[in-house]
Amino acid sequence: MASSFDPASIVVPRGHFIGGHLVKGAGEAMDVRRPSDGRPYAALPLADGALVDRAVENAWCAFRESGWATRAPRERAQVLRRWADLIEADVGTLAPLEAVGSTRTIAAAARWDVPFCAEGIRFFAEYADKLGGEVIPTAQGQLGMTITGPYGVVGAIAPWNFPLVMASWKLAPALAAGNAVVLKPSELTPFSVLRLAELAIAAGMPPGIFNVVLGDGRVGDALCRHPRIAKVTFTGSTRTGASIMAACAETGTKPVTLELGGKSPQLVFADIDDIDKVARRVAQAITTNAGQVCVAGSRLIVQKSIADQFIDRVVAAFNEQVVGPTWQSSSTLSPIISGRDLERIDGVVKRTVQQGGTLVSGGCRLAEDSGGFFYQPTILTGVNMGMEAVRDEIFGPVLCVETFDNDDEALALAAHPSYGLSAGVHTSDLNRAMRLVHELEAGTVWVNRYGRSWDFAMPTGGFKHSGLGKDLGRYAYEANLRIKSVLIDFAQGDVL
Ligand code: NAD
Repeated sequence: MASSFDPASIVVPRGHFIGGHLVKGAGEAMDVRRPSDGRPYAALPLADGALVDRAVENAWCAFRESGWATRAPRERAQVLRRWADLIEADVGTLAPLEAVGSTRTIAAAARWDVPFCAEGIRFFAEYADKLGGEVIPTAQGQLGMTITGPYGVVGAIAPWNFPLVMASWKLAPALAAGNAVVLKPSELTPFSVLRLAELAIAAGMPPGIFNVVLGDGRVGDALCRHPRIAKVTFTGSTRTGASIMAACAETGTKPVTLELGGKSPQLVFADIDDIDKVARRVAQAITTNAGQVCVAGSRLIVQKSIADQFIDRVVAAFNEQVVGPTWQSSSTLSPIISGRDLERIDGVVKRTVQQGGTLVSGGCRLAEDSGGFFYQPTILTGVNMGMEAVRDEIFGPVLCVETFDNDDEALALAAHPSYGLSAGVHTSDLNRAMRLVHELEAGTVWVNRYGRSWDFAMPTGGFKHSGLGKDLGRYAYEANLRIKSVLIDFAQGDVL
């Protein structure tokens, strides 16, 4: 088990990471606050246009000259594997650095974020020498084939909710495929990826292949619009995803991978084998990281005959959460990322009650004296898709409950007008489960579980406004390669 730590003891890397080392920019700086106590703990340098340009040009030169893209793929894989080993061995530094200023508790960061990040890099390293082009059937006297190769410089933009893991899902497939990367982490959680970059150099990655520029959305926008950026991979909100798609269209029809928001349903049927176990699972799906998870199971759709007893058990599971700062090893309930987001979440809950919804539990701030942004896990009933609480992504520990009598009603309630990221089905009936798996419009459907496993081969990504393309799996690797078709005539005379 990870130990508690003193937040004042954490040394934060300072600067942007360009060409293999930390560099100061000439731009302004802004305070970054710890969500666990609301205190500023480090200054974030904001990259200006010149610095973004410097990072991208550096990456371009490294892509052209360092041999990263042209060396034997297994040699690239070796560097990536060494990097993963160094990350894992660095858990004592990386996990507190991740936890101190984010919503990740030290226990979760040490047990999950750091090793999951390392293992994801290993997973993509394996593809480097295993997936390539193919020979295409053609007429005799010809050789038709496809050759795959990297784009060049990939712009990667990451959110704040799992800073290391989300960044690694962008970085690892792009780097394994031979690209150089310029990453912009969230301005709310910018520092842990700088340590990743230092470890990449220690592992033997050529300087300039992985760069980090810090700043807010303006820096992300400048990165997307830079003429040398050949592809953009983004994780964040649907609204920002749309801006990025527009910026990429306006500056060269650049391909984009977009992992966006969700409002995922969890369908619970009366035939479940163990009501306590399923209630805990449902509770966990909305309390993990205080509901600040793209795939948070934020809509409970439960069969009427068990609804009351099921909700009671979910409330009981909520009450087991331990509130405390992310640097305390016993804490399980994460803070909300910022005071502004805390106010926003509370506002949605209060307006929903004014509109006729019923507050069954929660609905208020916790541990206010600490200065931290904690919010009590909350259940709202008497709600419907016409209300913002059910329709919009809240990104907090708020579970909206609707009830049904039969499968068709459950499916109708589960359908969301715009999101389609993930869904959960809890039932003992395999026929029912398989029907729902096919009919639910979601990029991932979990049956009798909720949440990711360590199976990196499972692609993740949303339908509709929840995204475009996949992170993880073979598809994520392939999305970082361009395909060139080659047709060679080797017979005498023309082949028609
Ligand atoms: P956000 O969209 O506010 O910001 C994400 C990143 O984009 C940040 O680095 C931000 O600085 C940058 N950015 C903001 N405006 C930009 C612009 N115009 N151009 C370029 N970059 C810009 O999202 P967030 O609040 O950091 O993260 C929460 C959101 O991310 C939620 O909607 C959540 O569902 C989503 N998310 C999705 C997945 C997934 O896999 N589908 C995973 C994690 C988070």
